[in-house]
Formats: sequence, structure tokens, C-alpha cells
Amino acid sequence: MTLPGSPFLAYRGTDLFLDDVRLSDLVRQHGSPLYVYSRRAMLAALAPYQKALKGRPHLVCYAIKANSNLAVLQTFAQAGCGFDIVSAGELARVQAAGGDPGKVVFSGVGKTRAEMQLGIEAGVRCFNVESTAELEVLSEVASRLGRQARVSLRVNPDVDAGTHPYISTGLKGNKFGIAHEEALATYKRAATLPGLEVVGIDCHIGSQITDIAPYLDALDRVLDLVEAIEAAGMPIHHMDLGGGLGITYTDETPPAADVLIGQLLQRIDARGHGHREVLFEPGRSLVGNAGVLLTEVLFLKPGEQKNFCVVDAAMNDLMRPALYEAYMGIVNVNQRAEPGQVWDVVGPVCESGDWLGRDRTLTVKAGDVLAVLSAGAYGMTMASNYNTRGRAAELMVDGAQVWVIREREAVKSLFEEERLIK
Ligand SMILES: *Cc1c(COP(=O)(O)O)cnc(C)c1O
Repeated sequence: MTLPGSPFLAYRGTDLFLDDVRLSDLVRQHGSPLYVYSRRAMLAALAPYQKALKGRPHLVCYAIKANSNLAVLQTFAQAGCGFDIVSAGELARVQAAGGDPGKVVFSGVGKTRAEMQLGIEAGVRCFNVESTAELEVLSEVASRLGRQARVSLRVNPDVDAGTHPYISTGLKGNKFGIAHEEALATYKRAATLPGLEVVGIDCHIGSQITDIAPYLDALDRVLDLVEAIEAAGMPIHHMDLGGGLGITYTDETPPAADVLIGQLLQRIDARGHGHREVLFEPGRSLVGNAGVLLTEVLFLKPGEQKNFCVVDAAMNDLMRPALYEAYMGIVNVNQRAEPGQVWDVVGPVCESGDWLGRDRTLTVKAGDVLAVLSAGAYGMTMASNYNTRGRAAELMVDGAQVWVIREREAVKSLFEEERLIK
């Protein structure tokens, strides 16, 4: 039996394997809850991007916020990727993982002066700037350092990516980017600022996008701007088309990355922009289906209206269901023969929003291990210590090999920096 999204995750007999590793063995050895990622699955997700972009100037900048474990960054750095970062913390992670700051694009709507300075000093490739106010501050910070910061403006193409409102970023009502109508004037303003060198244009219209159409619409809007900006005498070196490609959580059918990119490049060529370097900032589509969250069943609590399956992972470990009512597949890592019952899979946290899945048919008993699927993106990076719960351990597998890439967080470390008052 294969599961949605990943050829690397499959039952062999009754046991669920990721690559060549039996998942129930991992919980026995490393405890629960536990994030497990497949390096092969990550590289396999990157391959179609690289294949489609081969032979033309390009850079795939992995969007770190999807999964920022150092070993994940190391994997992508070694595969030639750059990185899309949104904080100085993420820049430090790139450096700690051996990534090249010269391949980093610095995104985000609210960079501080300190973050700008760190980015300039590290030699990041480009700042994606989201407002006139930010342009001015960045120019000032760069000038004070005797430097010029390379910038591209993030424009808001005002297209509907057809995704959840919380992860849609390319509409007029969103806080992101510079409005299409203001973009040309903002480029002109940028060109006058002494601390800046304008090198590109950028857009990112949302996340978990499952259609090609909004991408093509956004691209057309961006190309219109590139033509207008160059006509006004400002050369645009690269176009950054953002990230956002969706994955299959259940029955979504997003385009394959090479199909999406192929169509975008075709449009770029048809409009005479084929010489331009293109950047992409994929996050979820590189890691989402490369990982699972394993969690042990603590208690079964059948009831009159609902049956609850109480597990030891919670909304602090995996926030997507509570935050977006996101659906994530849940399976037992040991397939059982008996017919299933319908359960709400819930965690121990004191919130009614603390559920991982609702109305799931599962054959399950206390002590079983469940796998929450497609948990490689926006899982661990959104985890918190709510209810003073230490964050899960993380493992990477490749074939039969297993590495601990983050130790389980000890309770003591959770309040180490707190002080009693005297
Ligand atoms: C979050 C984000 C991405 C990555 O989005 P995915 O949907 O994970 O591919 C790329 N660029 C920017 C600016 C982002 O904020």
C-alpha cells in the first residue's frame, strides 16, 4: 500500500517504512513524539526543479522556514541550493550548516536594522524589499557601513492563489509586497538611494498552491513591470518567482515542479525574457512529504458523541491542524487486520483546538504508534513549548541509515533562562 505524496513511505507487510527504516523501531529507540525525515525524499523533490532549470541561469533558494533543521539545510546546501531567509536567526542557521550567504535572499516584511546589518556583513545575495520605508532604512544602514545592499522589490501582483486565507500573500489586502501600481515609482525611488543597488524583482503569491494558472497570471504581471522598469532605464538582472507550490496531503493534485517551471519558462521565453536569471523559493514542496511525525497512543476514550484517541503529540508539536484546520493523513505504523472505528486524534494540551485529525477511521489500541503524514514542512519549525512541553526529537534517514539531527528538548532547558525575583 502506498500513501499520499511520497514513494519513500510505504508498508512492507504490515509495517510502515520510511526509506528502509521500520518506523516502529525508531520510536522504540528514540521515544515519542518523533519527527523523521528522508534525505532521499528531499533530494527527489528538489530534482525536478533542477531538471527544469538546467541550462539556464538560475538559483533554487530553499525557504528555510518550512524546515530549518541544520541537517536539512546541509542537505540542500550540498545539493547546490541557495536559501530564502526571513530573519537573522535563519541566516545564522545557513552559516552554521555550511551554506553560502552569497546564495541567500533575505525576505520578510519587517527586517530590523540589526538584521539588515548582519545580512549586509554576511554578504547576502539580495534583500527582497517590501516597502519604501524599508528601502530607505536599508540604504541608510548600508551607507553607514560604506556598502551598497543589493535589492529586489517584492511586488504584490494582486492575484488570487486560491489557497487558505492565512497562507495567501499575493492579494491587495495582504500585508506583503509593494502594490503593482506603486512598483514603478518605488523602483525609481530605489534608484536614487545611495546605499542600494537594484538587481531584481520578486513575487511570492502564497503557499500550498495547487494550480498553475495563478503563477502564470503573477508572472505576466511581473513581466509587465520588468518591461516598464527597464523602459525607464533601470536594468533588472533576475526575476524571483517565489515559492508556494503545494503538495498532496490527501487528494490535492498539484502540478509536478518540472511541469510548473516548464510552463513558466515557456512564458518567459515567449515574452523575450529568456536571458534573465530566474530564482525560486520553494519550501513546502521540497520537504513536506519527506517527513512524518510519529506519536504514541496514550489512551482510547470512546464516548457517546465522539471517540477520542489521545496521543502524546499535540498542537505544540504540530500546529497546522489547529492553525489552519489543515488535514494531515494519519495512519498506524503497524497495520492491523480488524476493522477500524472513527476517532478524533487529539493531544494532551488544554485547548479544544488541540487536535491532529478529526473523524479518522483507524484500527488502534493504546501503545500503538501513529504516523502523521506530510509533516516535513511547517511542523517542527512551528513547534512551541506550550504547556511546558519539550519539543520532539528529529531524525534523518537515508536508506537504512539513521541520524539523530536534533535531541529531544529537556524540560530543564525550557526554563533555564527564567529567574526567580529576589
Ligand atoms: C514562506 C515563503 C516561501 C516558501 O513557501 P512554500 O509555500 O513553503 O513553498 C517562499 N518565499 C517567501 C517570501 C516566503 O515567505
